[in-house]
Amino acid sequence: MKTIGLLGGMSWESTLLYYKTINEETKNKLGKLHSAKIAMISVDFDVIETLQHKGDWDKTATLLANDAMNIEKAGADFLVICTNTMHKVANKIQSKINIPILHIADATAQALVKDNIKKVGLLGTAFTMKQDFYKKRLIDNFNLEVQVPSEEEINIIHKIIYEELCLGITKESSKNEYKKVIQNLVNNGCEAIILGCTEIGLLVKDEDSTVPLYDTALIHAKKAVELANS
Ligand code: GLU
Repeated sequence: MKTIGLLGGMSWESTLLYYKTINEETKNKLGKLHSAKIAMISVDFDVIETLQHKGDWDKTATLLANDAMNIEKAGADFLVICTNTMHKVANKIQSKINIPILHIADATAQALVKDNIKKVGLLGTAFTMKQDFYKKRLIDNFNLEVQVPSEEEINIIHKIIYEELCLGITKESSKNEYKKVIQNLVNNGCEAIILGCTEIGLLVKDEDSTVPLYDTALIHAKKAVELANS
């Protein structure tokens, strides 16, 4: 079994889900007392979040690349960055390590393509929904049509992620906001929704949507187990 490198803590609320899912999947696959071999570093998210909102992505890349190098030194065979947003600096991190990064957008897109989905709605942080690093990968490499919410909706989705979900707070009122945004995307022809932020699955469940939800945290974690045992 390969050792999975986890770069987590962004936020720890979702890293917890990765840790649990990876171990549960390993147990399902191998039975008995099997559990996953993991080398993990969990960061102080406040530091990263401050840099993100200042736009200092270079500094986030330096910090995370340093952690990634230590994860490699600890024996990881590949790296899982447990957040969609920080894949913005995935190339810079990759340039500092010798093990491959299992990209969250690739794992998700592969699941969508397998299910024959063509047009998909994307929810995530404003960085993920508005910038190119994530959407462009889905469009260029997987031929998907990607729809994002309106500017006003993007602000609501973003605020709920940072002010509630990353702090472990789930409110019924916020769930209703997300449900409205999802329904608007469906009305625009989306056949599925990417929960493109690793905390959204803590709030929104399958029954909150009329189309299938693709939870990036779960898909990514399961893909890691597949790779570890291949
Ligand atoms: N976990 C979130 C994501 O998947 C947001 C937190 C972050 O900015 O890393 O994008």
